[in-house]
Amino acid sequence: MSHRVAPDPELTATIAARLAQLRRRIAELTDRDVRIVAVTKGHPAEVAAAAFEAGCVDLGESYAQELLAKRRELAEAGIELPVRWHFVGRLQSNKVRQLAGVVDLWQSVDRESLAREIARRAPGARVLVQLDLAGLPGRGGCPPEEGPALVRACRDLGLDVVGLMGVGPPGPPELSREPFARLVRLADELELPERSIGMSGDVEVAVEAGATMVRVGSALVGPRPPRGPA
Ligand SMILES: *Cc1c(COP(=O)(O)O)cnc(C)c1O
Repeated sequence: MSHRVAPDPELTATIAARLAQLRRRIAELTDRDVRIVAVTKGHPAEVAAAAFEAGCVDLGESYAQELLAKRRELAEAGIELPVRWHFVGRLQSNKVRQLAGVVDLWQSVDRESLAREIARRAPGARVLVQLDLAGLPGRGGCPPEEGPALVRACRDLGLDVVGLMGVGPPGPPELSREPFARLVRLADELELPERSIGMSGDVEVAVEAGATMVRVGSALVGPRPPRGPA
């Protein structure tokens, strides 16, 4: 069944063109190196393979089972993608064990119980502390004012906290400017180098605010097919 995951050359070319365009847009805004994480959640495994072929070396996923199923499907087809996997979605502690050894950067650490489980299953793991920038229930992230304490708790657990992550509020991209600036100020204060902010809709605002990492899904790999029952 390897034909199902082998990347389609046309799709690969499309993603490569969008990636080049995104890199140009970023370069017009900053001299900083901004890492682009291609978020392939909601897309089949062949899209992850195509994104890698197109030059994406950082891939992001939001659902534990989906990430594991994709890797399994690719492995069965003899494809091992030498990419860094970023976990960017809400994470239940009971999924951590299966993800240990797979995830390179845990971007959505938003509570101490989760940090403790990651430290237990993947000692010394690289993590970002996620702040809730939108104040919306169910989106994940810890209240920004609790960020410093959570960063300290992660460090005490031996985790390698490299930065902060945040999702901007829904609506026009301008609404993300102030929350992103707040996250960047806090990262400065805590001397954390990585600021993972910006998605397809507000990537420019994020880069202007000081992003070192953007997480781009639909603008790179196309709109997500509707999510069926889990
Ligand atoms: C889905 C998702 C993204 C990518 O979203 P797009 O709008 O498709 O770019 C980025 N970050 C997180 C946390 C996500 O869940």
